[in-house]
Amino acid sequence: MTEKDMFNALVVEKDEESGKTAAAVKQLGLDDLPNAEVTVAIDYSTVNYKDGLCIGPGGGLVRSYPHIPGIDFAGTVEASDDDRYKPGDKVVLTGWRVGEAHWGGYSQKARVKADWLVPLPDGLDARRAMAVGTAGFTAMLAVMALEDHGLTTGNGPVLVTGAAGGVGSVATAILANLGYEVAGVTGRPESADYLTSLGATQLLAREELNETTKRPLESENWAGCVDAVGGAMLARVLGQMKYGASVSAVGLAGGAGLPATVIPFLLRGVNLLGIDSVMQPYDNRVRAWGRIAKDLPMDKLEAMIQPASLSDLPKLGADILQGQVQGRVVVDVN
Ligand code: NDP
Repeated sequence: MTEKDMFNALVVEKDEESGKTAAAVKQLGLDDLPNAEVTVAIDYSTVNYKDGLCIGPGGGLVRSYPHIPGIDFAGTVEASDDDRYKPGDKVVLTGWRVGEAHWGGYSQKARVKADWLVPLPDGLDARRAMAVGTAGFTAMLAVMALEDHGLTTGNGPVLVTGAAGGVGSVATAILANLGYEVAGVTGRPESADYLTSLGATQLLAREELNETTKRPLESENWAGCVDAVGGAMLARVLGQMKYGASVSAVGLAGGAGLPATVIPFLLRGVNLLGIDSVMQPYDNRVRAWGRIAKDLPMDKLEAMIQPASLSDLPKLGADILQGQVQGRVVVDVN
């Protein structure tokens, strides 16, 4: 292999005896990549909760080791055996269990199925696409689902839980830009200025909504909700939704349980909408990326960015598992 066939990647290895994993930047060759139709020269990746798991203990997501994590990336097609892509095309990839069951984006090169790629829309370069990343893409899917179920401006505030995180930050900025009044729930009071700058006009402390209540219905406060937290907070939020309003259930940062009653569904016609970004059909992916380019203000996106490199990833992976990452980390893999 020549020098130009070599590239750097964050490789996670597992010691079979102790079961412990360790991540380090290593040099690999193009021959090490799996067989698939499209080879991509990656420009940027990002850090998601799942990446924290895959950089560290694996969380049952990683199929085999050695493994390259990174559940999303954006870059330029270098070689393609598929008619839909040619060298030089700008592409983005999220989901399909890339970075979990397949080698992912913490690498200067990836080889993937053409079906998994989406052309970058006009108005988004690779860096900004990864500032959006899976978190922002999912936030857009969540907003689209609320709109598809009748959300319109002028009906009162839309609640965003886990507001200072990746999904929450992008959801806040998109909703505010679309003219919605946004209420953000955060456990980090120091994020107040940040959330206000993204367009939130009301902030709630996490404790206000984390407590369980015996009352299945409370005052009708919210016209919609993007929920990144799940658990007791989602249960509480369901009882505070306005008549006929919808909640997009995106995440489980606060727990996978749902200690709720069915009363909000039966007496207020509340809708609980499940949002999955991983197996999302191609047409809706294209629709969501197009909406991101149109409806997410780029100055707000820039304000969310924390730059990072491949060697920063072990620490960032641990941080995101602790809920300590604010906004969007953009990893320059080169
Ligand atoms: P982040 O870690 O960036 O954000 C999560 C936020 O949730 C934190 O920043 C914090 O916000 C809040 N939070 C953390 N722990 C708790 C807790 N114990 N109780 C209440 N709030 C808490 O993650 P992402 O935004 O990237 O992802 C959010 C969730 O969405 C994750 O569970 C992730 O797995 C899931 N997800 C799902 C996808 C799908 O396809 N459905 C795709 C992408 C993500 P604050 O500091 O403001 O309180």
